[in-house]
Amino acid sequence: VARNPGEAEFHQAVREVFESLEPVIKKHPEYLESKMLERICEPERQIIFRVPWMDDSGTVQVNRGFRVEFNSALGPFKGGLRFHPSVYLGIVKFLGFEQIFKNSLTGLPIGGGKGGSDFDPHGKTDNEVMRFCQSFMTELYRHLGEYTDVPAGDIGVGGREIGFMFGQYKRITNRYESAVLTGKGLDWGGSLVRPEATGYGTVVFANEMLKTRGESFDGKRVTVSGSGNVAIYAIDKVHQLGGTVIGFSDSSGYVVDEDGVDLDLLKQIKEIERGRVADYAARRPGARVSTNGCIWDVPVDVALPCATQNELDGQQATTLVKNGVKVVAEGANMPTTPQGTATFQRAGVLFAPGKAANAGGVATSGLEMQQNAMRDSWTFEHTENRLTEIMVNIHDMCAATAEEYGVPGDYVAGANITGFIKVANAMTAFGLV
Ligand code: NDP
Repeated sequence: VARNPGEAEFHQAVREVFESLEPVIKKHPEYLESKMLERICEPERQIIFRVPWMDDSGTVQVNRGFRVEFNSALGPFKGGLRFHPSVYLGIVKFLGFEQIFKNSLTGLPIGGGKGGSDFDPHGKTDNEVMRFCQSFMTELYRHLGEYTDVPAGDIGVGGREIGFMFGQYKRITNRYESAVLTGKGLDWGGSLVRPEATGYGTVVFANEMLKTRGESFDGKRVTVSGSGNVAIYAIDKVHQLGGTVIGFSDSSGYVVDEDGVDLDLLKQIKEIERGRVADYAARRPGARVSTNGCIWDVPVDVALPCATQNELDGQQATTLVKNGVKVVAEGANMPTTPQGTATFQRAGVLFAPGKAANAGGVATSGLEMQQNAMRDSWTFEHTENRLTEIMVNIHDMCAATAEEYGVPGDYVAGANITGFIKVANAMTAFGLV
């Protein structure tokens, strides 16, 4: 804490992982002797830079850009870029730290990193977003490369932003280096299933947890927080598996739609019109928008937090438990506070941490890189099968590790321990790195 002052989210993420590692350290004291814990929470490299750009009125704006290249023991740094006014070093470091273990869990050769800016794309024109992305990439490009560092999207960074950044990278470097960014458009090196992957993967993971209790999504009531990329495709997959999503949200409030969310309408409003939850409720008979309380007050069997960090606290977890929630799977990164997680685990709720449950996004980014390397593109069905295989495998590994270390059913410990051991062993093999 003294070494990284004021980085609350980073401290929270490190504490959670380290708490899980106690039984590992007991069994393998050599990790302490080699200062593995100190080494693994120190990023290999951190870059902070100025991003000047001009808005449509001709006024100069200045934002701050970040890239934290956290750990490349398993492969090139890999992790998304977030554009949101709340972004500062502590957020980027927490996300980058989580990413190391998540990427390890996918079984693909990718290291961990994360980046972004305090730029807020809300209310900006396409031209403003383009000028910002071009300026951002004009600095960042020198740190990237398909064997070095491969960013993707995250909050506020979708296909439009990746397009502007890829275009600028290509212009500056004079290289059509497809695998330098993932989340690309289908016409220029993107992969089918990448937009769906994080949401789909989260629901596949939740479904595997339900199966351990002989249950399925069939007939389950579900809420999903957020209404961005992860949330939309989580809703899609829940409906495919026979569940009903009755609520979603954005930062302006939440909607309850007891008939089940109309996914086409939601996509039209969020992906095309870039509207708010109130726009959905206005066009959907029977749906109501609420700005009082929060989405976790709605009684459900399954809750999928898919918006942002620390959006589900201890009190809200208590409400969900009282209302009979059976499964919570994190589509977002660290959306549940430590008190929330403890409440779910004490109550015997099946709880999946983001670094396991939302790994489908980066896994499919890994598949996008494979297709780029092969100069090939796979069918939707093949790519989705690969994604499902990876998610089922992550579920099974986390469950088996939790069992092995004496905490059966603790997916948090299972994910942290499995992710850590592989990275730590690679770092050990490389000598003092
Ligand atoms: P999007 O920008 O597409 O959507 C984010 C959604 O969350 C929006 O509905 C947004 O509402 C809401 N949201 C964001 N910040 C807040 C806040 N402070 N309070 C309330 N609501 C908020 O992002 P993604 O769907 O891509 O990402 C969502 C989460 O999933 C993040 O935690 C991200 O790190 C994680 N994730 C994403 C992956 C991906 O492939 N995209 C992969 C793995 C994890 P509003 O528009 O009102 O701000």
